Amino acid sequence: MSGKLGVMEKTCTVMLPLTMNSSENRENVCIFGTGDFGRSLGLKMLQCGYSVVFGSRNPRTSRLLPNGAEVLSYSEAAQKSDIILIAIHREHYEFLTELIEVLKGKILVDVSNNLKINQYPESNAEYLAQLVPGAHVVKAFNTISAWALQSGALDASRQVFICGNDSKAKQRVVDIVRTLGLTPLDRGSLSAATEIENYPLQLFPMWRFPFYLSAALCLFFFIYCVIREVIYPYVQEKEDSTFRMAISIPNRVFPITALTLLALVYLPGVIAAILQLYRGTKYQRFPDWLDHWMLCRKQLGLVALGFAFLHAIYTLVIPIRYYVRWRIRNTTITQVITKKDNPFITSMAWLSDSYVSLGILGFFLFVLLGITSLPSVSNMMNWREFRFVQSKLGYLTLILCTAHTLVYGGRKFLSSSILRWYLPSAYVLALIIPSTVLVIKFILIMPCINKTLMRIRQGWERNSKYSKSALNGKSDI
Ligand code: NAP
Repeated sequence: MSGKLGVMEKTCTVMLPLTMNSSENRENVCIFGTGDFGRSLGLKMLQCGYSVVFGSRNPRTSRLLPNGAEVLSYSEAAQKSDIILIAIHREHYEFLTELIEVLKGKILVDVSNNLKINQYPESNAEYLAQLVPGAHVVKAFNTISAWALQSGALDASRQVFICGNDSKAKQRVVDIVRTLGLTPLDRGSLSAATEIENYPLQLFPMWRFPFYLSAALCLFFFIYCVIREVIYPYVQEKEDSTFRMAISIPNRVFPITALTLLALVYLPGVIAAILQLYRGTKYQRFPDWLDHWMLCRKQLGLVALGFAFLHAIYTLVIPIRYYVRWRIRNTTITQVITKKDNPFITSMAWLSDSYVSLGILGFFLFVLLGITSLPSVSNMMNWREFRFVQSKLGYLTLILCTAHTLVYGGRKFLSSSILRWYLPSAYVLALIIPSTVLVIKFILIMPCINKTLMRIRQGWERNSKYSKSALNGKSDI
């Protein structure tokens, strides 16, 4: 078959070359498969000045191809370029064995994904390498979607993970990735393909722990508050307080969860510091659970911020609540009837204003922390600035929010009269973890301890036996 079908006129996409690939010296690239991804990749490559040849089962009937692309049969297309992007699902790779001769020495770029994590014993790229042993297989592009390539909406994910055993082949793919305006990230040999293929299938891996934890905390505190504020009054006085479950109790549960999660953002750092002090070295791995915990601190903080927002919104509706309006009216009427007014207690006014003020300041800093954790903002900061915000301002936020809760308890904080069935108010429980973190942190920053910790973090070791494991260690927390 002469094969040349020339330009397909079905789509009329405007193509503007974006790169250094001059028209006189256009590099030929072959794409196997004229499906969604193949077409999108082809379009992008044409826009960037490449000359694109598609390989297809049905070159004559292939539709919707970008203007300027050529479509040939698979074997004819393969001869046109020494680099071939395989935009075909793994399940259909077998026909490639018929092309072993023509594919010899060529660079095959595996872009495929699976439907499930670890669906096959080996990665798709390794499978391709087994099917076509004479070719140099490189894994790339699987984390970029066809839609993003076509619409240009690549801001969220410009990163292209690349791996392969042949460094020259990998370099060719790296060059293409750069020419397309994407960011190549070399992940090493082809054995890294499994990890790269699993990457797009992961569902919020870093968010899972914070979500489960916050759900568990919310559930625990909700049940705790229901026992104290709904079941207890019903059992003791036959009083129906079920309406509290709509606003009062959530407005207790959300701030408690927010404060506990915020404290849990700083707790692993404190544990890590204690471990380093105990071991007398930083060159020893932290346990996996601590590593994982430290990696999802940002997510924990953002979930905590979400709960703090809920608390702020719930607090704003307090004045318009029926129950609150009823209480104020009732108190006023009772005072009029009994001709008695409540004296103004300055200390109470102080407590109430300080509590609100601490809450507002804590919330403000909390929002600031959230904003600085956004990549667009954090990318503008150097390491010292980022640490200053996330560590110093973070601890200040924790102090303010803890103080907000402490002052809320006020005088009745440690009074036995607030116990119901021996259970203290929920906010007392909320103070346990933050206070513990703050007390330990305070001890850690005492000069005698802080000096040793800083020395350890700069590489000093108390015990020389650890020096052997130095290469495997973590360098910072
Ligand atoms: P698709 O629309 O189904 O296209 C697959 C193409 O494979 C077909 O159009 C067909 O092209 C070719 N093919 C060859 N042998 C085949 C056979 N026996 N049966 C069916 N098709 C056969 O799929 P796609 O969305 O373009 O995805 C292609 C590859 O890119 C997949 O491995 C996918 O995991 C990967 N990927 C896709 C995306 C995305 O956003 N879609 C993102 C990243 C990676 P011809 O008819 O021209 O032969």
